[in-house]
Amino acid sequence: MLRLYTHASCLRHDPGPGHAESPLRLKAVLQALDADRFAALDRVEAPRATREQLLRVHDAAHVDRVLGSAPLEDRVQLDPDTWMSPGSDEAALRAAGATCAAVDAVLAGQAPRAFCAVRPPGHHATPGEAMGFCLFNSIAVAAAHAVAAHGLQRVLIADFDVHHGNGTQDIFEREPRVMFVSSHQSPLYPETGFAHEHGVGNVINAPLPGGAGSMEFRETWHHELLPRMHAFKPQLVLVSAGFDAHRDDPLADLRLGTEDYAWITHQLVELAHAHAGGRLVSSLEGGYDLRALAASAAAHVEALLY
Ligand SMILES: [Zn+2]
Repeated sequence: MLRLYTHASCLRHDPGPGHAESPLRLKAVLQALDADRFAALDRVEAPRATREQLLRVHDAAHVDRVLGSAPLEDRVQLDPDTWMSPGSDEAALRAAGATCAAVDAVLAGQAPRAFCAVRPPGHHATPGEAMGFCLFNSIAVAAAHAVAAHGLQRVLIADFDVHHGNGTQDIFEREPRVMFVSSHQSPLYPETGFAHEHGVGNVINAPLPGGAGSMEFRETWHHELLPRMHAFKPQLVLVSAGFDAHRDDPLADLRLGTEDYAWITHQLVELAHAHAGGRLVSSLEGGYDLRALAASAAAHVEALLY
């Protein structure tokens, strides 16, 4: 059984006409998950994150800025790529709340795994700044929740979005209870995530050159990343599930196919079964070609079912 957390508010956040991070993305994912083979998904409405949950990873000034900046009409710009519309504050609260509720549910044994179909994405948001389409760092809020509220000592975040999760790394690079592992295209926005960035031994970055495809991606995870993730023996596996390394994605130049997302998901589920009682929580990050995003997210969720 797999839990699916989402909320209608996540469709209201609208960065504007022509912006890649459009509400149509989540619509496409939810439509794909309406197929018969997903009838058994346990669909749950995402709650709002609490202020306490957000303050574990974000400065109070940042939380206040996001919660105080949603305009009544039109849009406001927080960084060159990041905008807020009416309702963006609520969307960001539901996105971060989804991941925390999913952590609570899997740790309570209500479901072994959960997927959070939410937006805005989160992995670029730093302790003090919104950036790269991200307002609150939802997966980081979830990891901090697992440590602070549930007392876990080893939480893993696997990030296969094509962009480096700079915000997640910033938040945890001095926190040995959280391991952050990322494959991403480099050079590419946000121009971080070099192999020499190790944190306190808890950060592993695997930059891939533009043009790299299925073989390079799978070899990197199989030989470099997964062995170190197994050695960490995580008690909970969290996933920043971005699908913008797909060959059809307009924002980057990796060459993955839908079947690669099924493959990496199987590896992560196996890792969770080996060390974490199967417990895994995944949250949607990027993915900007609607058709590739929908097919890749469906392949990911299908692999999470087993
Ligand atoms: Zn991305």
